Amino acid sequence: MFVDRAKIYIKAGDGGDGAVSFHREKYVAAGGPDGGDGGRGGDILFQTDTNCSTLLDFRYKRKFTAENGGPGGAKRCSGKSGKSLVIKVPKGTLVREAATGRLLADLSGDGPVVLARGGRGGAGNQHFATATRQIPRFAKPGRPGEAFELELELKLLADVGLAGFPNVGKSTLISVVSAAKPAIANYHFTTLTPVLGVVQLEAGRSFVMADIPGLIEGASQGIGLGHDFLRHVERCRLIVHVVDASGVEGRDPCEDFDIINRELAAFNPELAARPQIVAANKCDIADPEQVQRLRQYVTGKGCAFYPISAATTQGVDELMAAAAARLEELPPIQAFEAQPLTDEERLLRGAASKSFQVSLEDGIYYVESDYLEGILMTASMEDYSSLQYFQRVLRANGVIDRLEELGIQEGDTVDIMGFQFDYVR
Ligand code: GDP
Ligand code: MG
Repeated sequence: MFVDRAKIYIKAGDGGDGAVSFHREKYVAAGGPDGGDGGRGGDILFQTDTNCSTLLDFRYKRKFTAENGGPGGAKRCSGKSGKSLVIKVPKGTLVREAATGRLLADLSGDGPVVLARGGRGGAGNQHFATATRQIPRFAKPGRPGEAFELELELKLLADVGLAGFPNVGKSTLISVVSAAKPAIANYHFTTLTPVLGVVQLEAGRSFVMADIPGLIEGASQGIGLGHDFLRHVERCRLIVHVVDASGVEGRDPCEDFDIINRELAAFNPELAARPQIVAANKCDIADPEQVQRLRQYVTGKGCAFYPISAATTQGVDELMAAAAARLEELPPIQAFEAQPLTDEERLLRGAASKSFQVSLEDGIYYVESDYLEGILMTASMEDYSSLQYFQRVLRANGVIDRLEELGIQEGDTVDIMGFQFDYVR
């Protein structure tokens, strides 16, 4: 079964909690805080794997979680990091966020892509001793790992896509030029799953060709099977349009040529503009005059024309050489423009809410907020405009109001995650 769509859930590991612990040693009084930090949660990465060619596995397993980070320990021991999880997908897999449809990644390259980041470990109490707070009895919890519902969609990566009516000989053609062995039969819709074949030419040159289930009229409107598979032609650099020149099925070859092109255009206008070579098939049984008429029609529309017989392989080598030559002039396979989440977006999503707590201890105003901490981590506190931005965020979120309610005065100290500021009105 060919499965080219799947919906999965991924969840990166949570960060481990920071520890609360105090140094103990014989004869040493009042040891300082030495609680270690929690470990980072594992990430979830996607990696292409040439050994898989469908998304079938995701029919059976839909939930993927990476390991959580370990908790911090005494004696400043950090928790162990959670193991990352690598999910293998076929080349050409698009990863979308299910909720928004946003394309997060196009797995066309080889490198792994991090989709969900593990949560940061919480800071142990070793970090929270200050001149006025020598016995911090608290540590930070780990942050949750990112979680997403994702939609995976496979768009095959082939250099050449075969297009044409059912039964014109596409499967036969790919079977004689490559090692691919698609089902060939004399009825429509024999090809239910796209088949990829590697076409080897002399001197080690090769390209990938895809046999895609036949288009029928109306495919672009979802009639028949063609529509579902048209997506796979979208990425091909070159279309080899196979036309039955013999008209053995009672259709007019020139009309066939137009109908398929209309279907391509209706599905995606870019497809109609894609370079196209016409392979006039079944020339072994076609009337030469008919072939000639088709040649004139097709070349009149600016397409290169190759008469072949996939069954006898006559003219097939010339067609493949022409396709290879054409490919050399064309740009590489099109990658889709992914919009990965930015750091700031991740931050906003990561914070469960923009809530905060303010407490007053020994004259210092402690502000606790996951959200603000995140912003603080990405801002540079040496930079005046960042500081101004941070001030605006504090005001917009009501933190300043809350501080004033508690009676803060000019020059008092505000502590956010260990960063201390003088309060300025
Ligand atoms: P597809 O639906 O486009 O993949 O077409 P197939 O490759 O399955 O072929 C449909 C039918 O046409 C089969 O019965 C083939 O044997 C036949 N066929 C394919 N190529 C040729 C050819 O060059 N000459 C002749 N006479 N028959 C062919
Ligand atoms: Mg076929």
